[in-house]
Amino acid sequence: MTKIHEQSPIQDKQLAIIGAGPGGLTLARLLQMQGAKVKVFERDINQFARVQGATLNLNKGSGLSALRAAGLMDAFEQAYRPGAEKMLFVDAQAAVIIDELGAESNDRPEIDRGPLRNLLLASLAEDTVVWDARFSSLQRTDESVEITFENGDKFTADLLIAADGANSKIRPYITSISPEYSGVTVLEGTVADVASTIPELYELLDGGKVCVLDDEKTLFIVLKGDGSVAFYTGHKADQHWHTSCGIDFSDRDQVFAWFKQEFKGWSHIWAELFKHATLPFIPRPQFCAPVDQSWPSLSNLTMLGDAAHVMPPYAGEGVNMAMQDAMVLASQLLNPDMPDMYTAIVAYEAEMRARNAETAAETLKFTKVFHSYEAVPFFREFFTGNQDVLVQKEGFKEAA
Ligand SMILES: Cc1cc2nc3c(=O)[nH]c(=O)nc-3n(C[C@H](O)[C@H](O)[C@H](O)COP(=O)(O)OP(=O)(O)OC[C@H]3O[C@@H](n4cnc5c(N)ncnc54)[C@H](O)[C@@H]3O)c2cc1C
Repeated sequence: MTKIHEQSPIQDKQLAIIGAGPGGLTLARLLQMQGAKVKVFERDINQFARVQGATLNLNKGSGLSALRAAGLMDAFEQAYRPGAEKMLFVDAQAAVIIDELGAESNDRPEIDRGPLRNLLLASLAEDTVVWDARFSSLQRTDESVEITFENGDKFTADLLIAADGANSKIRPYITSISPEYSGVTVLEGTVADVASTIPELYELLDGGKVCVLDDEKTLFIVLKGDGSVAFYTGHKADQHWHTSCGIDFSDRDQVFAWFKQEFKGWSHIWAELFKHATLPFIPRPQFCAPVDQSWPSLSNLTMLGDAAHVMPPYAGEGVNMAMQDAMVLASQLLNPDMPDMYTAIVAYEAEMRARNAETAAETLKFTKVFHSYEAVPFFREFFTGNQDVLVQKEGFKEAA
């Protein structure tokens, strides 16, 4: 292992990361490659706890750059899913709007969450990750951070990095600014072995993804490497809909009844997802951190990824932001020109906030247009028409 630069602000420091998601693990890898002392604490009971969710697109210049910096492009080449980036846009009746978007592009290759986590874990020294360690609270002084876990265990670090995702328990120790509700709630589900359970859908997916756009609503369906599909509906709802609606999300009949009413008139092919999904369904109100959020930096506590700037999934940027945060933070912490950790954290957070302001604004615009009556004409023109005109008209950047 490379020896850490003796002028680096983290020379001889003990670092703790909470959360073994893509952001936390990428940071651990980048730091450990340079000899830093780092531990990752994760609430999952072990490495084999099932990692759920749709596949993730890693973008050139962010997610892929971080993997390259981590020396993991060979492992990525083995694990990514060529062709999975292909996206078919259809309407509620499964009539095609745009076909095979992204099929010829290699700029946003897709990888399932499980294989991404596994390749990052395999790159770390043994015992770096402490499993079954659910963060409970912390006590911070200028010298150290004492972390307490729900099982009563404690750990003292010189620097703590929160990478504990959208509902971060550590974020409130850094800022009182809360993410804001976007107006859209997602309902997520999984269907195993879709080739035999819903062959018609399997054929439509053709190895990639389907995005259904209609009635100011969305349905994304993503084929995964194990033959299952992850899917999520998006509909405009009150922030507390998931509790106030009275639906028991572990009761198939109740959820199916809701789908038939909310997505009235939609093709039977989508209803099949609800008939075959593994229980429970997971409702996720979509939040976005304010684009102009700011806080005074601390000398030994910072955050990255969704903990720092959760955003809806409609621009496919969340994981890319998390991994880019890791890359920027690692380079500042290892920078011998940084006099101390505080200065390194200030530099990282300034860059991260500026980058997030742009990405979050774009994501909110996409979230809005996806759930509007303009969605179909907009995306038809956006992906097949004169994009320059649209960029000027709507202020959108090209989607990748
Ligand atoms: C339905 C959906 C689809 C998405 N699709 C895409 C996409 O296509 N492209 C994209 O770029 N992004 C996508 N995203 C967003 C992406 O998943 C996140 O932005 C990304 O996972 C953030 O990474 P992270 O490491 O910051 O957090 P996470 O991946 O959330 O990891 C956080 C980790 O912290 C652990 N943890 C949480 N609390 C504690 C605690 N108290 N103690 C210890 N450990 C804890 C969790 O178990 C988890 O392992 C999607 C999100 C959703 C909901």
